[in-house]
Amino acid sequence: MSHAEDTATDRMSGPWADTYRDKWKWDTVKWGTHCVDCYPGNCPYRVYVRDGRVVREEQSATFTTIEPGVPDWNPTGCQKGTAWSRMINGKDRVTYPLRRAGERGEGRWTRVSWDEAATEIADAMLDAMEESGPRSILRPGTTEGGSQTIVLANNIFLRLGATVSDVLGEVNDIAPGLFVTFGRFGSCSSHDDWFHSELVLIWANNPAQSNISSFHFITEARYNGAEIVTVAPDYSPSAVHGDQYVPVRPGSDAALALAMCRVLVDEGLVNEPFVREQTDLALLVRTDISRFLRQCDVREGGSDEVFHLFDTRSRRIAEAPRTLDLGGLEPALDGKYRATLKDGTEVEVEPAFVRLRRRLEAYTPEDASVICGIHPERIRQLARKVASKRTRIITGWTTGKSYHGDLMERSMCLVIALTGNWGKKGAGIRGIGAGMFDGLFLQSMKPQTGQQVTEEMFRAAEESTQAALAEDPTLTREILLAQAASEGGIKLGVTSPFFFWYNQCGYRNVFNNPSLNDPSMKRRFDDYVNEALEKGWWEGLDHPTVDEPHRVLFNIGGNPLRMQRGGQRMLLEHLWPTLNMIVTLDFRLSTTALYSDFVLPVAQHHEKTNTNYPVHDTMFLALGEKAVEPQGESLSEYQVTLLIARKLSERAKARGMLEVKREDGQSVRLDTFYEDLTLNGALADDDVFFDEAIRDSAVMGTFPPGTNLETLRETGWVRYTSLGSAPTSLAQASDVRPDETLAPYRWQTEKKEPFPTLTRRAQFFIDHEWFLEAGEELPVHKEAPLMGGDHPFVVTSGHLRASVNGMHSTDRTMMATTRGTPVAHINDGDAAARGIENGQDIRIFNDDATMVIQARVTPAVRPGQVVIYTGFESYLSPEWKDFANLETGMVKWLRLAGGYGHLRYRPLMLQPTPIDRGVRVDIQKAI
Ligand code: SF4
Repeated sequence: MSHAEDTATDRMSGPWADTYRDKWKWDTVKWGTHCVDCYPGNCPYRVYVRDGRVVREEQSATFTTIEPGVPDWNPTGCQKGTAWSRMINGKDRVTYPLRRAGERGEGRWTRVSWDEAATEIADAMLDAMEESGPRSILRPGTTEGGSQTIVLANNIFLRLGATVSDVLGEVNDIAPGLFVTFGRFGSCSSHDDWFHSELVLIWANNPAQSNISSFHFITEARYNGAEIVTVAPDYSPSAVHGDQYVPVRPGSDAALALAMCRVLVDEGLVNEPFVREQTDLALLVRTDISRFLRQCDVREGGSDEVFHLFDTRSRRIAEAPRTLDLGGLEPALDGKYRATLKDGTEVEVEPAFVRLRRRLEAYTPEDASVICGIHPERIRQLARKVASKRTRIITGWTTGKSYHGDLMERSMCLVIALTGNWGKKGAGIRGIGAGMFDGLFLQSMKPQTGQQVTEEMFRAAEESTQAALAEDPTLTREILLAQAASEGGIKLGVTSPFFFWYNQCGYRNVFNNPSLNDPSMKRRFDDYVNEALEKGWWEGLDHPTVDEPHRVLFNIGGNPLRMQRGGQRMLLEHLWPTLNMIVTLDFRLSTTALYSDFVLPVAQHHEKTNTNYPVHDTMFLALGEKAVEPQGESLSEYQVTLLIARKLSERAKARGMLEVKREDGQSVRLDTFYEDLTLNGALADDDVFFDEAIRDSAVMGTFPPGTNLETLRETGWVRYTSLGSAPTSLAQASDVRPDETLAPYRWQTEKKEPFPTLTRRAQFFIDHEWFLEAGEELPVHKEAPLMGGDHPFVVTSGHLRASVNGMHSTDRTMMATTRGTPVAHINDGDAAARGIENGQDIRIFNDDATMVIQARVTPAVRPGQVVIYTGFESYLSPEWKDFANLETGMVKWLRLAGGYGHLRYRPLMLQPTPIDRGVRVDIQKAI
């Protein structure tokens, strides 16, 4: 042995080396993932177990190449995932059922048995149902907990006819402007498709913090020649990775986008064939009433959903096809024409594009520059770039949380519409996508287990869809199924939480406060609510009323006291006193858990079989295996709800309450409730449920044939093979190919399928009476109202890099990567003007509340801006007063509009959601 080898051997021996080697010993290795709202998640991990404990987890890096020439997904993951094995053994774990011993929130608890807890909870449910029916039991929607909470645990509430509030209404991760434009839940490419972009606009988003696992596709796109431009008020962690930074003033994004549109129009850069075919901008609008010229205007008994255009070839007004196939027509985008109405009178009409031109007159780059703070030349350059490059706007959920976020998004959509930037790889605008794991949702509808019944159900559904499509070829599968899913969901009790906030949580006063509303509103907020109700736009959804309070609240995987805009200030005062029973299912003591009557311990990741919500961002489903036994007496969410269901049957029989009537008129047997829910016990096991759901998905075509739980245990992940039948998935409107990235809306550009909007086109002109009243029939920039009062600072926000919502805020490893405490990022000049030093405590206040928080002084934040990343439990703030208390929870009145083509409530789609961006505050030193 040489001296060098000898020295190396010495270096690898001794007690320190054994300690290191010992870290790498394990008994078993399983597949794992983290079923939380890390969106998009689904990272396949390897989980190492020794002596019955998870000792380590790491990215598996087992993805294969999808599209040759496009980087693969490996080694997808993030620091939170890799640290989760510490959270599993965290000190805030709840490991046995707890019943409140003192007042709510007092912090005194008694350990109880599962049977005691289930008995009291079941009795409270029966009391509530006796008093005012099953809708008095509320299960707020949540994105946390994956399939265990979103589907398996939900089945008990849906079967019972309880209220299940719309998860997108609750978490507010909604893209309202995309919905108004495209009539869809969202538009979502697989993130590897980002690689195909030539220009990426990271706009009102911070993917370096919120999409850690897939951010590499943006940097890899740069290696591929793409230019990255970040549009944000602060020099964010994402801006660091860009080629250009566009420091837009908070809330002025629509002005910037509309100025870019103005440049496109002025400089002849509009992709006119694309605009004619894909959008409504060629449709004719009556100049006398500012409404589309409809078939019912020109023909007795005509439809109000058939529109017109002026064909430049035949020089006449023609009906617009109800698909995107123009059939040889060449619609005009300019000019004025005469149309004869059914009574013989004539009116003037003009293409919507003419109106758009007029709208854009107010947005010269010079004028817009005054609003958005970007130099006119920069605006021109940006517009020219978009026109010449395959462009994708990667926006997030900030715009949707802004008062006029719908207008911001509609303006961004207009930029990509005018430049022909959707329906091809590397192009589009990012929203949300979900669906594909169809078997998961089928289980509650199957009369028995097995795939034969699935095949029969699937065949029957397919035949009826085909028959409906044959009857009206202008319909699409998406339009048909959206209608059916909506009716089904609403019947079962799914509803937007708007009326809950309005009638039960004290927000009626907030919404009617004129100073918090858009100053351009012509009437009071309540006037619009009443009109919407009178016109039946919210029929069947306007519950709970003031007189029908919820009595039992199940908080499963959520944390409303931390998340609700208005926070504890609103919920503890208005809602909590009306609730007879608050039950939290969680693996730890969240803020809401601490104010609950019962805390029921649920198994963490790696302690149960689970999958995260299925999304198009990845196109993969990762499996979370049960690697270790749940700690203490913890159970999976599904098992907890089954325990309650069984007890519900038992107590119902004892009380002689054998059935209950749902709001849809159906009677639900309570004495056999558990048996009916589980198909006589056949679906009572987590693994059986998942295996059945996976096998059914293979039958339904969204997984490769033969996929089941066992095959997933071998591979750890599977790629979806089709969009399936969920409308939220069909909304992506592209074939799923095994060797290609997913780029949405190819069915529109390649097959000329219509959009699910009123006009069957991407719709920029909304002639709904309220939109006309608001002057928002076309995109426009409007300043947000002074929510929080007339204060000099504007708060923006976003996700903390080191935590998934508040979950990691007690994990020392993760918190050690930040200051470990809630922080407000403020501009250095603002700090100096107020005598505030970095690290000092400051008081942030507005008309609603006050909080104390540490200041992080930085030039990366714009003067007048405050950034407070979410990701901390409320109890980490002094007196538990976190920033949610300063948020007003205001909603934009226009979101109540309905009765118009695609503008109507459907589960998981457009609805009123609370605003938390752009809240006004002031700051000063704490002492
Ligand atoms: Fe992936 Fe989410 Fe886990 Fe992070 S927390 S590794 S993003 S699944």
